[in-house]
Amino acid sequence: VGGVVVTGREADSRPALELARAAYRELSLYDPKLAPCRIDLSDNTNRFGVPPAAERVLREASSEAITRYPSVYSGSLKEALASYAGVSANQIVTGCGSDDVIDSAIRAFTEPGERLAFPAPTFAMVPYFARMNGLMPVSVPYADDGSLDVDGLIESEARVIYVCEPNNPTGTRAGRASIEALLARHSGLVILDEAYAEFDGDGFLARAPLHSRLIVTRTLSKAFGLAGLRIGYAAGPETLIREVEKSRGPFKVGTLAERAAVAALIESRDWVRAHVEQVVRNRARFIAALGPLGFSPLPSATNFVLVPVANATESAAAMRRAGVAVRAFPGLPRIGDALRITIGPWEMMQECLARMREAIA
Ligand SMILES: *Cc1c(COP(=O)(O)O)cnc(C)c1O
Repeated sequence: VGGVVVTGREADSRPALELARAAYRELSLYDPKLAPCRIDLSDNTNRFGVPPAAERVLREASSEAITRYPSVYSGSLKEALASYAGVSANQIVTGCGSDDVIDSAIRAFTEPGERLAFPAPTFAMVPYFARMNGLMPVSVPYADDGSLDVDGLIESEARVIYVCEPNNPTGTRAGRASIEALLARHSGLVILDEAYAEFDGDGFLARAPLHSRLIVTRTLSKAFGLAGLRIGYAAGPETLIREVEKSRGPFKVGTLAERAAVAALIESRDWVRAHVEQVVRNRARFIAALGPLGFSPLPSATNFVLVPVANATESAAAMRRAGVAVRAFPGLPRIGDALRITIGPWEMMQECLARMREAIA
């Protein structure tokens, strides 16, 4: 009735890009350059293997787990995570990786045009999530002593402040005191990303619901070895968690992913703990071995180590040609060029040391 017939020529003359949301025009697709490599120490996943209970569940999958829809909001996974985290199930939201939980939380608590602040350097996905949601990313360098620049973060007038603790890609901690100071002063939401908390103490997870404006995110992609299943979660006060859940939407975690994760959380905690302990031992051994080769790695509270080098991009390319993938970070604020190296079984770390010696030292 009210339509106008558009000829093919007219339709074609309208640039396709104009159809997209304005904020997306300057966005490129995320490209972490993850080509396969013989030994991959580039993405901080668990290099020791799969939790046995998760593997068993996936092998025994029924056809009904494939043909039917998954649970709407991952109820049984929330129960298992709540018992792991020491909170109640209505204080937990899950998602397709913690990336999805962070993105959903940002969307739930901002309007396009507002600001999202974060200490720099930090998780590379965060400014990307900000732009995806039409927000202005504001980076605030860490203070000289490695703590948060709380004044700088507050003065950014951001609606949401993101902090990664321990931090990726540095592996270091800002410390409890500056995080408490930020929580006390920020009137908007704080997203505390604890993707690596298992590798150094217990973090804020269990106490997240006691704060009125805090959401703590975690993942099963790192210590739990389930990155391919894409499971992340957050804990916080029920009122905030409900809003994130609306933003996340229904049916986000697949049936097999949910079942495998529940099995791992209930039956494979000892497996996870044992490999975390092995990472912590290998981390100390790897850092100790780097000194005599002339490297000065940063201290690490995670399952990776950041090693400053003269030319990160070329060094990582040379190591990759020799069969070891590490992640290059050129030009980090206050640090300069550096390589981020995941800690795995000791044989992989020995091979990495040998390739570093040839490629860089
Ligand atoms: C790996 C990582 C995540 C986890 O991402 P998933 O989407 O859960 O796989 C989140 N935050 C940081 C800082 C990470 O390094």
